[in-house]
Amino acid sequence: MMAQFLSLRAQVPAEALLFYRMGDFYELFFDDAVRAAAALDITLTKRGEHQGEPIAMCGVPVHNAQIYLSRLIRAGFKVAIGEQVEDPAEAKKRGSKSVVERAITRIVTPGTLSEDDLLDARKSNRLAALARGAAGDMALAFADISDGSFGSIRLEPGDMEAELAALQPAELLVLDDDARTLAPILAGTTITARPKAKFEAGSAERRLNTHFGTLSLEGFGDFSKAELGALGCLLDYLELSQAGAAPKLAPPRHFEAGGWLAIDPAARASLEIDRTLQGQRKGSLLDAIDRTVTAPGARLLAEQLSRPSASRAGIEARLDAVAFLHEQAGLRDALRDSLKSAGDPARALSRLCLERGGPRDLLALARALKEGERINAAFARLGRDSLPAAISGALEAISLAARPELASLVDQLSRALVEEPPLLTRDGGFVAQGWDPALDELRTLKDQSRRVVAGLQKTYADQTGITGLKVKHNNVLGYFIEVSARHGETMMGVEPFIHRQTMANAVRFTTTELGELESKIASAGSRAVALELEIFAQFCGRVEGLADAIRAAGEALAALDVWAAAAHWAVETGACRPEITDGAELFIEGGRHPVVEQALTRTGEARFTPNDCQLDADGKAARRLLLVTGPNMAGKSTFLRQCAIIVIMAQAGLFVPARTVRLGLVDRLFSRVGAADDLARGRSTFMAEMIETAAILNQATPKSLVILDEIGRGTSTWDGLSIAWATVEHLHAVNRCRALFATHYHELTRLADELDATGNVSLKAREWKGELVFLHEVGSGPADRSYGVEVARRAGLPHAAVRRAQSILSKLESDGSPAAALAELPLFSAQAPAAPPKPSKALERLKSIDPDALSPREALDALYALKNLT
Ligand code: ADP
Repeated sequence: MMAQFLSLRAQVPAEALLFYRMGDFYELFFDDAVRAAAALDITLTKRGEHQGEPIAMCGVPVHNAQIYLSRLIRAGFKVAIGEQVEDPAEAKKRGSKSVVERAITRIVTPGTLSEDDLLDARKSNRLAALARGAAGDMALAFADISDGSFGSIRLEPGDMEAELAALQPAELLVLDDDARTLAPILAGTTITARPKAKFEAGSAERRLNTHFGTLSLEGFGDFSKAELGALGCLLDYLELSQAGAAPKLAPPRHFEAGGWLAIDPAARASLEIDRTLQGQRKGSLLDAIDRTVTAPGARLLAEQLSRPSASRAGIEARLDAVAFLHEQAGLRDALRDSLKSAGDPARALSRLCLERGGPRDLLALARALKEGERINAAFARLGRDSLPAAISGALEAISLAARPELASLVDQLSRALVEEPPLLTRDGGFVAQGWDPALDELRTLKDQSRRVVAGLQKTYADQTGITGLKVKHNNVLGYFIEVSARHGETMMGVEPFIHRQTMANAVRFTTTELGELESKIASAGSRAVALELEIFAQFCGRVEGLADAIRAAGEALAALDVWAAAAHWAVETGACRPEITDGAELFIEGGRHPVVEQALTRTGEARFTPNDCQLDADGKAARRLLLVTGPNMAGKSTFLRQCAIIVIMAQAGLFVPARTVRLGLVDRLFSRVGAADDLARGRSTFMAEMIETAAILNQATPKSLVILDEIGRGTSTWDGLSIAWATVEHLHAVNRCRALFATHYHELTRLADELDATGNVSLKAREWKGELVFLHEVGSGPADRSYGVEVARRAGLPHAAVRRAQSILSKLESDGSPAAALAELPLFSAQAPAAPPKPSKALERLKSIDPDALSPREALDALYALKNLT
């Protein structure tokens, strides 16, 4: 057995754990056992010896192995499954010492999951591969075996990080060297190094052609060598992980680089598009606007938000669809109702193609396709011509009328399966009565025999005169007759009863007739199950043959869900359709930040104040750069972020949270918001800030949108001010892009006088009865003064410190040059802050009270006494 174990162990990558099947357990040995026991917090034991050392061992029961598997995968492990591939009885026949044959049936890795309970229904689970071309170019291939999608894109090395951030793969295959450099920057992605040969374009092409049964891949698109290498490496890894049985993927799609609005990783993180800075979905933009009713719809929406389009035609097509459903309230509601029953056909399909599916997956496909047909009928009344192209395209894909084979599959599935089939095929019971006469006959035979058995109880009771005689069944004896110990005596040796077992207070018998019925029932039962499995396999074969059409229908349903959800959300929150142009403007009237607004509405604390933004990088007299000033907490960041979010949503083809929006397509979105620590990369805050700022100044084009918040805060005032100053000038003169620049350096506002396309806006605050009130309203012109000291007071800075700050501030403000003012201020000779006031009598008294020692009455008295002291 150890020899077999070691040979299996040698077949799987060193970093994977080997689950070695032994009867009802998966056992782990040696180092695997040590690592798994620690990760799972299960007992580590020892068994036998290997080369004089005891062998470490631990195990998990097969029946709930899935739970352990998911914990290991989440902890970043890979797990190879070594199954028993023959019946142990067969092995025994070969000799008592022979070992049951085992083989690796699968290697479970984070990027190759298909099981429902290992996956998040509303999130894609992608495997990606990064390849390098000979000319310094790169390519990224990606697949999601849970829904069969497969594709690749060419990359410039500078775009790699942004692409990976958009894709968020669960697992990334790379060359050894890249593994070392990428591992620190890709949190949450398992990085798997693959040998160089696996990325080789020639063999990759052959592998792809074999998989798709083609002679050339040209029909699928124009792939670069690096793309072929990445696609091939990915497919090879899938084959490895599925033990040769690579899942049926959709033909590879080539995506054009530049088709998307590029969002740099810092912007993606700080705008909290699909997860918050803490990594949660809750609190993200996606979470705030997601009104989809199906899991594939939710995945598609996440995809569109993380990869907004840069093609005007593509965006308009989606917006047309959303606008149509925005108007047609009745149709929208009916559509959403139907979709609720449509489930997740993409994942059901993939499981069936991977032979990991069950009867419920077949039923799920049938239901989804039927709902599709119902949706089709609902729209048919309007006539195809009145529909936007995107919607009629989707209806086309879900129409069964155009696909008779699919229609007959759906019809047959609905008749062949019972309403609520079991999860597994193993025990049968999922094929409906009346579907297959042979199956019905076997079932009748079984039922009849059972009835005969039930009848025998009375016959035998009459025959023996024992009223308490029972015919029972268990898994060991099968059917048997049971009587009490007293009666058992009288039945011994009496025809036709054959003694089987004597218990403490019962005796069990059988009869030849009972034995015959038993085997009749058992054989009818197993023949029935075999027949059901055959029927299941036939359906699976047909499903696989129609996989492309089914996948297309599933995609269309997901798209309909996204459009309807966007429309629903727009109605709910009063969002509008953005106008998309080829210019370079960003005009927002009454814009809102959906997440902040939702939070405010939920707590009922306050209302969100809508704000305008007017930027234009084209017009002659236009302003392309706005300096945003205002006190802390006045809403500067919120304003900046909401403008970026509106751009992202618009280019994702969604309605936007504003009264009106006119947007010239943005090619790249950059942002540097806040001075969040970047400890993960081991860089200082200031260093991280400067690296990101450098990237922006080096890459932003006249079509880009740049958002900078508090640049230079991470260093001393004069350094910071100078850097901020130079950054604004560079953006204005060189990048010439649309930019919003929030700053607390008041001095910067003077730049607006010197730079022709730069303007000042500020967030207004007002003092009211000695309190600072934030209006959250963006107005023109710079902020008139800094309310920092006031904010400090409200935060509870001691009075003495606040007074001191006020006097320093007025000194600084009255002098033209801060440096001169600082020199004059007697900073170190100043009076020490006043000693803290004497503690009050009430406080003294309060300290002396021991609440635990008081009766309720005494507590009340003490309270009155305290009140009198104040
Ligand atoms: P700043 O960047 O100026 O320090 P923030 O943008 O962080 O300020 O905003 C501070 C808080 O003010 C936010 O958390 C939010 O609750 C509130 N706020 C911001 N903008 C608005 C607005 N337009 N309407 C209502 N409340 C707002």
